[in-house]
Order: sequence, then structure tokens, then C-alpha cells
Amino acid sequence: MSESVKPIPVNEPLLDGSEKQHLIECIETGWISSEGPFVRQFEEQFAKMLDRRFGIAVCNGSAALDAAVAALRIGAGDEVIMPSFTIISCAAAVVRAGAKPVVVDSCSDTWNMDVTQIESKITSRTKAILVVHIYGLPVDMEPVLDIAAKYGLALIEDAAEAHGQAYKGQLCGSFGDLSTFSFYPNKHITTGEGGMIVTNDGRLAERSRSLRNLCFQTHQRFVHEEWGWNLRMTNLQAALGVAQMERLEEFVQRKRHIGARYTELLKGVEGLELPLVKTEYAENIYWVFGLVLKEEVPFDAKEAMRRLAIEKIGTRPFFWPMHEQPVMKKMGLFDNESCPVAERIARRGFYIPSGLALTEEQIVRVTETLKTILN
Ligand SMILES: *Cc1c(COP(=O)(O)O)cnc(C)c1O
Repeated sequence: MSESVKPIPVNEPLLDGSEKQHLIECIETGWISSEGPFVRQFEEQFAKMLDRRFGIAVCNGSAALDAAVAALRIGAGDEVIMPSFTIISCAAAVVRAGAKPVVVDSCSDTWNMDVTQIESKITSRTKAILVVHIYGLPVDMEPVLDIAAKYGLALIEDAAEAHGQAYKGQLCGSFGDLSTFSFYPNKHITTGEGGMIVTNDGRLAERSRSLRNLCFQTHQRFVHEEWGWNLRMTNLQAALGVAQMERLEEFVQRKRHIGARYTELLKGVEGLELPLVKTEYAENIYWVFGLVLKEEVPFDAKEAMRRLAIEKIGTRPFFWPMHEQPVMKKMGLFDNESCPVAERIARRGFYIPSGLALTEEQIVRVTETLKTILN
């Protein structure tokens, strides 16, 4: 490999719209804290896009989950059903609230939670279902909504990877009693760090706002009835968010284009399981372009990523299942849990560069290199 070959990062965001102009406005007006006008504007625009009444901007997507769990008053003795194959933030929010995460396995083709497993996990302690749209395809929501209604369970929807994605025509992030988003730079739109809670429920919105802001009270500011956090988003972050939102549609198209190109170029490559182009209820939005090494490949994802790194191609491993997390094992959680699909894709899966700034040339180089390292 020649020294001059440029590395291809796993993600690079696009910030070439009105981002700079909006940030300059923050500096020139002095509005840099969470009190600034972009915060309200971002919240309103984001909620409106989803046809929800309330948006509550927070400092990141993990904090959005913490606040959502707390807003629903989930606590000691409660159980929350979630996929094992997800980011730690989901389980962390539940565990920190004193509640117990209960996991279900994934579908082997969509990598999303297998919703047919939910009902068997319900007990008298179940308080909520936490769904997570994974890597670009939505969870099959209809059965989840039915189960939630039938058992009177709250629904938290983690849509951090699904900005602009829809399930049967309805936007992801508009299904939950509380839905959460992240604006980390690898998400479809970014604020550097940032998150959002959206809801149609006025009381949950008010409670989320209060939890975000240390549970200060309007009538007695420094007298607290409950524990909150400082999870506020700054005006600087929201300025980026407003600029990025202007381009969401274009970004989604761009992501789909990258997904389509990879699919075309990798179709028929032996040993690779590609992301589904679509399901009955959605077209893939390719938050990331994931690959799972088939059984016949004599090495695992770690080795594939090592080989790609030598060729200066950035990758990330798939999520590690919640029921295999040492931090939870140490708490005595998930002693005899088994989720064979999550366990397999965690070991065999990784994703390749798919950021918005990725060029056609880079896409070709990634696929050519992949073919070589598989041989
Ligand atoms: C990125 C992500 C989060 C966490 O968001 P941060 O802003 O990084 O805290 C939560 N859930 C899912 C599904 C994510 O992909």
C-alpha cells in the first residue's frame, strides 16, 4: 500500500449549508446557551416534521433515553423489554433508573428486534417496550403497537438511526409515547453532540423539560421536588440542527444512493450478507451499510476490519448484545440468556464507510478492497 493513498474514514459529515452562517449569528448576537432562539426553532421544526406536538432538545441521544425513561416514572421493580442488539445507552437508561432490561433477539435479515418474541417476555412487572430502529430499517411497528395497547405498556421509540425513515408511510420517531433521536455526527443530521425527545403528550413533554433542566420549578426556582439533570442543548448546537434540517431530504437521498451503489457493487460477492434493500413496510435508509460474514468465511468481523484498516479503510464493529455485556453480567443480569442471532451478527458483522461526504471513487475503492480481502 503506497503512503499516498488517503484513508477513507468510516464517517464524515456534510456541513456546507447554512451551518457557518447560523453559528456566526450565535456569536454575533451572544446567544450561545440553551436560552438562545435556535433551540426553540429546532424543537418546533423537528416536532412539526414528525407531526408531533412537542420537541425537547437535549445534549445527546443517550440523555434523551435517560429522560424518556425517567419521564415515564420507570423505576425499581419495573421491567422494560428491548432488543439485545442495540447500543448500551438503551440498557443504561433502564438500569440507572433502577429497572430491569429484558431482551429479545433480532431478526436475522433486518437485524431489528424480533417482535414475535415480545409477548412471551411480558410479566406483571413490565412497564414499557423500548424499540430501536437499527441501521436503516424500521422495527415492524404494527405488532408492537398492538401489544403495547393490549397490555397497557408505554412505548419508547429510539429513532436515533432513523431520521427521515418511515414505517408504512409514517415517519419513524412519531410512534412512541416518547421517541428519541441523536444528532451525533454519524447520524443523518448532526449538531456535533445532541439529541431530541418528541411526544404528543403534553404532560410527558413538560416532565421531560423539567428533567432536562434540573427540575427547577417556575414558582420556586431553587426548591426541588425531584431529581433532574442538566441535559440542555446549546444554541450553538441547535444552530447546526436548524441548518442540517434544511437538507434532511437531500441527505436521505444521498444515503440511499450510497446504499444502492454498495448493493450493486457487492451483489454476488460470496461470503457477504448485505443489508436488505427493503421490507414489506420500508425501504432501507442505510444509516450505515452493514455487512455480515457468512459461515463459509474462515475469519470473523474483527479480522475483516483489521485487513481493511491496513488498506486505510475505516470500519466499525456491529453492536455487542446487551445480554453479553460484562457490565451487566457483573450485576447478575442475563445469566442464562441466549439470543443466537444477536450473538452471531455481533461477531460476524461490521459496517463500512457510509458518511454523507463519501465519494463515488471511495465507494469503488471500498468494494474492490473488500473483494480482495475476502479472497
Ligand atoms: C447514536 C445512538 C444513540 C446515542 O446517541 P448519542 O447522541 O451518541 O448519545 C442511542 N441510540 C441509538 C440507536 C443510536 O444509534
